[in-house]
Amino acid sequence: MPDTFKRKIKVAIDGPAGAGKSTVAREIARRLGCSYLDTGAMYRAVTLKLIRERVALADLERIEAILMQTGLDLENGQRVFLDGEDVTLEIRQPAVSKLVSPVAAIPAVRSRMVALQREIASRSTSIVMDGRDIASRVMPDADYSFYLDATPEERARRRQKELMGQGLELSIDEVTAGIEERDRIDSARADSPLVITPGALVIDTTEFTFKEVVALLLDVIRAESGCAPDAATSI
Ligand code: C5P
Repeated sequence: MPDTFKRKIKVAIDGPAGAGKSTVAREIARRLGCSYLDTGAMYRAVTLKLIRERVALADLERIEAILMQTGLDLENGQRVFLDGEDVTLEIRQPAVSKLVSPVAAIPAVRSRMVALQREIASRSTSIVMDGRDIASRVMPDADYSFYLDATPEERARRRQKELMGQGLELSIDEVTAGIEERDRIDSARADSPLVITPGALVIDTTEFTFKEVVALLLDVIRAESGCAPDAATSI
């Protein structure tokens, strides 16, 4: 095993909605034996909480108070718990997808999530994280930084398939409109917009299979490294 892999490694995977980041990141982490953190799931869980509490997004004071009382637990790449309740499926519902980008654009929400994400990274032996601002803000010191992209048509097709797997039937037009709107908000927001960070390896995955993308990333990381597995991340 090369010496370089005996140390802690941090892998950042960024990109727009539906590029396949989470599936690839989860598999990379599994193959490396690292922790995995789906940061999008964290923003989704907070959004679900705000929906349930019927909070107006302009009510920043209430949002900050709620953030302080919200418990998030992410079982390593598998399940998401909000205040102890398993919300893994619920956070993928259209109502959450529709509101998550406006919620994620709120600086108080971002600073709380980023603090939690950094805390998890510092506690993990090695970690793979996916999101929008991982290389630009959460882990600017990542050892490996990837930006996964694909054409809007392909991203919509993948997202539709993923949703179908969760029992959610949406037309391709609905999925495309949702993805375009989220990309627009995520790229235009003032606080940590979606950007390609200098030094990130940009991969257009449109023509690649899932397996090919995983192999490509693992090749770059020169995997089969010595990352110790962390069973769960608790916040
Ligand atoms: O990854 P996923 O598509 O589930 O993310 C849902 C939303 O969460 C994104 O559209 C974005 O608004 C927000 N997000 C973010 N920063 C991250 C991860 C997700 O703003 N690091």
